[in-house]
Amino acid sequence: MSALIKFEWQRDSAGYHVEKRKGLRLVHAFDGEVKVEEFVFLSEVNEPWSPVSWDGSESDIEEIEVIVPNGGPLLTYYPLEEEPSLFAILAATKLNSDSVLTFVNRFGPLHHGRTSMFVEYWDSDIKNTSNFISAIEGKNYQIITDYFCNDWASGLRVRFDYTTGRSKPQLCLTPPDLRSAIYLQLAQHISSDRELRRCLHCGTGFVFGSGTGRRRSGHYCSDRCRKAAWFASKENANG
Ligand SMILES: [Zn+2]
Repeated sequence: MSALIKFEWQRDSAGYHVEKRKGLRLVHAFDGEVKVEEFVFLSEVNEPWSPVSWDGSESDIEEIEVIVPNGGPLLTYYPLEEEPSLFAILAATKLNSDSVLTFVNRFGPLHHGRTSMFVEYWDSDIKNTSNFISAIEGKNYQIITDYFCNDWASGLRVRFDYTTGRSKPQLCLTPPDLRSAIYLQLAQHISSDRELRRCLHCGTGFVFGSGTGRRRSGHYCSDRCRKAAWFASKENANG
């Protein structure tokens, strides 16, 4: 997309896997006031551990699904340049370990924080992007622009880039993590001439139009879906 946004991210070149880990949901206090629920692994709690939170509530030991890197060399790549429909792919991700793992294997975690690796914490970003796509389809942009009025973008770095090979430094925006980059891509999509369509086979949204490398006449999000639809139509014809 626009050269104004510069974003590189890393993913484990050996991929990721899912583990179940036991822990407790504990409520923490910050400055004695703000309460934040945090999932703490039993392995991280000092003995003797206590299931009692700051606010006196008690929690049971439970299992949580965690995405874990396989420990290969980190691979640096440019998500926004490689995938103009990243926000639609996140929106089509299901809140289960298989689906989240597929996303992480392709694009890496959403941010540097540990909760990015907890499958259940993907809920809000999947719902947000999914609601925003429905809003784009209904040309109801208000809920999206309202969202961007919050300080989600406070982590954006504004700087000048001297490495573009041009004679003058170029203004450049750098999102702090993949999550911010995805919302920024969605915001840019709204203000661009590009359009969004849903794949006829799997329903995932994809962006087409200038600079996306996708033809206006395309009906499928990927070659895989195009082939799958072709096989399905052949089977219908034969059966
Ligand atoms: Zn598809």
